[in-house]
Amino acid sequence: MAVVDTLLPEPDAAPRRIAVLGATGSIGGSTLDLVARNPGLFELEALTAHRSVAALAEQALRLRPRFVALADPDGYAELKSALDGSGIEVAAGEEAVVEAASRPSDFVMSGIVGAAGLPPTLAAVRRGATVGLANKETLVCAGELMTAEVGRCGATLLPVDSEHNAIFQVLDSEEPAAVDRLILTASGGPFRTRTLEEMRAATPAEAVAHPNWSMGAKISVDSATMMNKGLELIEAHHLFGFDETRIDILVHPQSVIHSLVAYVDGSVLAQLGQPDMRTPIAYALAWPKRMAAPVDKLDLAQVATLTFEAPDAVRFPALRLAREALRQGGSAPAVLNAANEVAVAAFLAGRIGFLAIAEAVERSLERCSWIPIEGLQALFALDREARRCAEEIVEELAARG
Ligand code: NAD
Ligand code: MG
Repeated sequence: MAVVDTLLPEPDAAPRRIAVLGATGSIGGSTLDLVARNPGLFELEALTAHRSVAALAEQALRLRPRFVALADPDGYAELKSALDGSGIEVAAGEEAVVEAASRPSDFVMSGIVGAAGLPPTLAAVRRGATVGLANKETLVCAGELMTAEVGRCGATLLPVDSEHNAIFQVLDSEEPAAVDRLILTASGGPFRTRTLEEMRAATPAEAVAHPNWSMGAKISVDSATMMNKGLELIEAHHLFGFDETRIDILVHPQSVIHSLVAYVDGSVLAQLGQPDMRTPIAYALAWPKRMAAPVDKLDLAQVATLTFEAPDAVRFPALRLAREALRQGGSAPAVLNAANEVAVAAFLAGRIGFLAIAEAVERSLERCSWIPIEGLQALFALDREARRCAEEIVEELAARG
């Protein structure tokens, strides 16, 4: 296969053994697409999913991992019977997902959505694995803990989120003093040009219809509120060690420039590409080399125009909330994340309106008392408490109509 020949790691090298957490999702599917197109380069140790038994069974029978884990134990019997006779080991429950990340593999794709991805991602970090990090919520709620563990255990965190992957590619990490600021680009989402009144009436179907990227429902709603960029600001702070005041957000509706780094001499370096996650995923899978990805070539003459604008703080209050949470530190980013997860789920279920998402997050930050985070158990307890508090607020907002 031609793509195999263009992969820079030596073609006769041993296959890279990988685990894909959240295999049935958008990131997981794109990762497995690259794996399937490059037979012989990768071997699958483990795949996990939440409760999509049929999709996970289909992937397992096609790609033959050694182990599959379903987070929801209720689907165990069905998955076990679907894989009967295949020789693939089957397990279920949250511990099984952690086991998938703990088993020996060189590379773990962290593609679960939400804080549920934290325990398995941490398990991969703790055994010193190379982790492709798509699951930004883990860094938002546990940034300090996670980066400390990465250092302590000698793990490697490779950013898969397209903005952070772009920065990783153009940031001179050997010369931090040469860097002035990071500039995260944002498409502006489906409501970039909508009025507040139009946004108030927005339906879940409209909110998940992203103009440029095809992604899971939660991150699509986050893009519509621009909380996604707020979470990415916190993610960038932890990945690259920049203070919040040195990270800018720039709306760029074409999603061609995936982010930029401004240097002290006035140079600004950017990474460009199609809005196709298989580019950053391929970067992480092949790192420190590169591999071919089946993405359309970027034709700038065809794109013709790249535009930029400042984000609108009034229609997108999530950006301010994320900056404030990052400045406060301690429990604030974890509360921001937990409340956002609860509010987005409530919006998708038709319980609250679109503008109530940011309102629920803001009220949760006010109501949930601030505490320092002194370890994982404290963080898990806080996450549960923040979700309970956010549920209460969602109830109030739903009753208000
Ligand atoms: P998705 O909803 O398409 O997929 C989520 C995956 O996680 C599924 O396999 C699902 O079964 C699994 N999952 C969900 N809840 C779980 C739970 N409680 N326990 C165990 N597994 C669970 O989501 P996605 O769009 O692929 O996004 C995944 C992560 O990557 C998110 O953190 C998102 O912010 C980030 N990300 C996604 C994109 C993208 O293009 N999709 C881009 C950048 C970053
Ligand atoms: Mg992103």
